[in-house]
Amino acid sequence: MQSTDTHPDPAAEWLVLKYGGTSVSSLERWRTIADTLEDRLASGHRLVVVCSALSQVSNRLESLLEAAEEGRDVHRGLDELRRDHRDLAGAMGLDLGELTGDLLTDLRRILEGIRLTGEVTPRLRARVLSAGELLSTRLGAAWLRGRGIPTAWQDARELLEARLVPRLSPERQYLSATCDHRFDPALDGRLRALAEPVVLTQGFLARLPGGDTALLGRGGSDTAAAYFAAKLAAKHLEIWTDVPGMFTSNPRSVPDARLLLRLGYGEAGELAAKGAQVLHPRSIRAAQASGIPIHVRCTPAPELPGTVISSPAPAEAAVRAVSERKGIVLVSMDVEGDWQGVGVIADIAGCFKAHGLSIDLLASSQTNLAVALDPRANHLGDEILGPLLDDLRELCVPRLIRPAASVSLVGSGIRTILHEWAGALELFEDEEVHLVAQGANDLALTLVVNESSADRLVRRIHDRLFGGEPPGRAFGPTWEELVAAPA
Ligand code: ADP
Ligand code: ASP
Ligand code: MG
Repeated sequence: MQSTDTHPDPAAEWLVLKYGGTSVSSLERWRTIADTLEDRLASGHRLVVVCSALSQVSNRLESLLEAAEEGRDVHRGLDELRRDHRDLAGAMGLDLGELTGDLLTDLRRILEGIRLTGEVTPRLRARVLSAGELLSTRLGAAWLRGRGIPTAWQDARELLEARLVPRLSPERQYLSATCDHRFDPALDGRLRALAEPVVLTQGFLARLPGGDTALLGRGGSDTAAAYFAAKLAAKHLEIWTDVPGMFTSNPRSVPDARLLLRLGYGEAGELAAKGAQVLHPRSIRAAQASGIPIHVRCTPAPELPGTVISSPAPAEAAVRAVSERKGIVLVSMDVEGDWQGVGVIADIAGCFKAHGLSIDLLASSQTNLAVALDPRANHLGDEILGPLLDDLRELCVPRLIRPAASVSLVGSGIRTILHEWAGALELFEDEEVHLVAQGANDLALTLVVNESSADRLVRRIHDRLFGGEPPGRAFGPTWEELVAAPA
C-alpha cells in the first residue's frame, strides 16, 4: 500500500482522467486505476477522476424504467443490479449496504412509484439513471481511500450546472443537457480547498439551475470529463476505455483496423459524430474550445500509447477512418412542381422542427429531398413519425426508408484527395445509396444505405483504403497485432 502526501502544491496543475463502464467494473481494473493515479500524483498533479456506471448498468436502468412504466415487476431487475455491485464491493473488501444502502432504497422507491402510476417524466428518468454513476463512485472512492490514495468523493451535481435553454423540450433539458465550458475560477478554488489531491466524481450527471438532476446524454461521461478539464484549465484529459485508442474503424467489427496515433480535434470530432462511440462528440468540442489535449488510453493495457487528439491535425490530407451509424431513418420526399420555389425547403424543415426532430443530413436532387434522422439525437417511434408524415403530405409525397445506416469516410482535406478514396466508392456500385452528403467542413463524406449492407460495406471499404502497407506515420499497429502482442 502506498500513501501519498496529503498537502499538495497549491499551484499544482490539474489532470482529468475519465474511466468508462468496463474500466470500473472489476477489482483488477481498479488496481490499474490506482497505479495510474499514484503515477500522476507522483508527478505533482491534482486529479479529477470522472467515472461511469459499471458496465451495462445504465442500459439496465433504462430497461427497469421501461418495465416500471408498463406495470411489470422491477424487483428481480433491482436484485440483479444489487448483486453486481455487491460482487464488486465484496472483491474490494467493502460493505455494499453501508456505502450505498440509501441509493438502492431510493431507486426501489422511485421505480415502484412509476410502476404504480405508469408514468415516467424526463425528470424521474434522469434521477433513476443517475443512480448508476452514484453507485460506482461510492465504491471506487472508498476503495481508493482504503488503498491509501487521498480521495474526496464529490457529487457531480454540486459541481456542474447545466444550461437552461429557452424552449428546449423537457427531454433534451433533463436527458441531454449541456454545460458551459469556460474556465471557472470558483470551481477551481473550491476543489483546491479540499485536503485531498484526488477528486472522484460521476460522469454523465449535472444539475439544473432549480436543483434537479440532469444527464448529459447517453455516453456523456466523456463530455462531463471534458467540461471539468475545460473549467479547471487542465493540462490534459485522459479518456480510459476498453480499446487502446481511436482506430481507423470500430476494431470490434474490423479486426485489421489500425490505431490512429494522432488526430486533430476536427477529425476526431467528426469521427465521433459519425459513429465512433469511443468518444462522445460533445466532449471533443468542449476540449477543443479550451485547447486541452485528449489522450485516449486503454485500461486493460495501460502500457499502450493510445491516441493523442490535439491541434493541429497531422499535416497531410488523408482519409483516416471509416465509420458507420445504424438505426438511421431516412425520409425521402418527392416534391411535385417547383421545389426550388421560395420557402419549400424552409416549410419542410419547419415540419421536422414542429415535431421536435433534429435533422442529421439533408440532400436534394431535381424533384426529391432526402433527410436522415439519427436515433441518438431523436426518439424515432411511430408515434412521432406517423404525425410527421401526415403533416409532410401537405407539402410533398413522403416515404420512410428504414432501417438505414450511414457509412462515412472521415479525414482532413477530403475534397483535395478525391483520387485516393474514389476506388472505395466503386464498392457502392451494387448498393442502393439513398443519400450522399459531404460535410461543409471538408472532414467527411457520408452515404446512407440499407442497414443490412453497412457492416459488409465498411469492412470492404476499410480493406480497400487501409489494407496492405501501413498508410503513414499517423497510423499505428492493427487491433489484431495489438491484441496478439504479449502484455
Ligand atoms: P466506455 O464505456 O469506456 O465509455 P464505449 O463503449 O463508450 O466505452 O466506447 C468504446 C467502444 O467504442 C469500443 O469498445 C469500440 O467497440 C467502439 N468503437 C467504435 N468505433 C471505434 C473506433 N473508430 N475506434 C475505437 N473504438 C471504437
Ligand atoms: N453511463 C452512461 C451511459 O452508459 C454514461 C457513460 O458511460 O458515458 O450512457
Ligand atoms: Mg462511452
